[in-house]
Amino acid sequence: MKPLLRSLVPTQLVKLPSLMEVPSFRSKQLSQWLFKSQTFQWEQMSNLPKALVENLKTDFDLSSLQIDTKETSNDGTRKFLFKLRDGQTIESVIIPMKDHATFCISSQVGCAMACSFCATARGGLVRNLVAGEIIEQVQHLQQDLIDNPFPEFGDRMPNVVFMGMGEPLDNWNNIAKSLEIMMHEQGLGMSRRRIQISTSGPEDGLKSLLNANPGVGLTLSLGGTTDETRKQIMPVPGRTPVLTAVDLVADYATKMGRRATLAWVLISEKTDFPEQAHQLASLASRGAFKVNLIPLNVLDDGKLIPSGLERISDFQKILTDKGVPAFIRASGGQDIAAACGQLRRRKEKSDKSSQKK
Ligand code: SAH
Repeated sequence: MKPLLRSLVPTQLVKLPSLMEVPSFRSKQLSQWLFKSQTFQWEQMSNLPKALVENLKTDFDLSSLQIDTKETSNDGTRKFLFKLRDGQTIESVIIPMKDHATFCISSQVGCAMACSFCATARGGLVRNLVAGEIIEQVQHLQQDLIDNPFPEFGDRMPNVVFMGMGEPLDNWNNIAKSLEIMMHEQGLGMSRRRIQISTSGPEDGLKSLLNANPGVGLTLSLGGTTDETRKQIMPVPGRTPVLTAVDLVADYATKMGRRATLAWVLISEKTDFPEQAHQLASLASRGAFKVNLIPLNVLDDGKLIPSGLERISDFQKILTDKGVPAFIRASGGQDIAAACGQLRRRKEKSDKSSQKK
């Protein structure tokens, strides 16, 4: 398979041999086609010399995602299943928020973290996504938003969150490139404030992020306040000690000059005990944090049960009483299996059963 042209950041495009041979404005024109006009066909690059397009075509692919399925929820959430060049599939979601749309994108095909509450975890990790595959998700969602806008949002730019399939900090090199492309003025030109990485907190990945300091928002998914309880819910992330992860994220928050987020999935009789809320509050006091409480999105095996409403608000109150900003974040699109990995899983199951017939 050829590399994707969109995996190159604008500063790398300029240095391609076939672009070094032509005047420098050509690389700007090329970036325009790639990142502003969202062109997926070589033939459309009408203002570039034919020979240049032919050279690029020999070395690179221009498109890697096909829309396999699109579903729209009653609450406006739109969920996409994309087919990649190797036949693998990934999910991306457009979520209407109060005054803007949020794009939830994937960083890997599958995931190696094995979190007990997560649908993506069930199939294990297949592979990392390359930067171009990450950028194309954003572009397809952008196109969908242009074709079917939410009129109430006017021309507000969408936010992008790495909360889809995969562990972004286990694929740091590709994520770093995709962030550069998203934020470069000749790339997607997005503000760092509109981008958020959500991570289960692998130590090496957090250190790379801290070192690179891209300035984008950061959420740490906790699931347990002690090493022992966290390991039961999130076996692989649990290998990084909770305090190590929390303190690295706190350092990152200090560097970026903004609060980071601790994400806590509320599962009945597993993660909704008052004692855990107290412990979570003391973890949150180690740095500039807010807490997002996410009621469990039920998986199809029915093994884990979401906490009741009262239990959720009691948990929240303990945090807010201790001065920790805590918000309940219900996931959208319940009726279309929008929680991470669920659509892909449902499709795989139905493909298997139709093969059996
Ligand atoms: N690996 C990264 C990003 C993917 S998960 C991470 O762990 O953050 C993104 C968020 O979705 C995490 O906060 C995770 O806790 C949450 N999540 C996953 N499955 C869920 C489910 N079934 N119900 C509620 N939240 C879920």
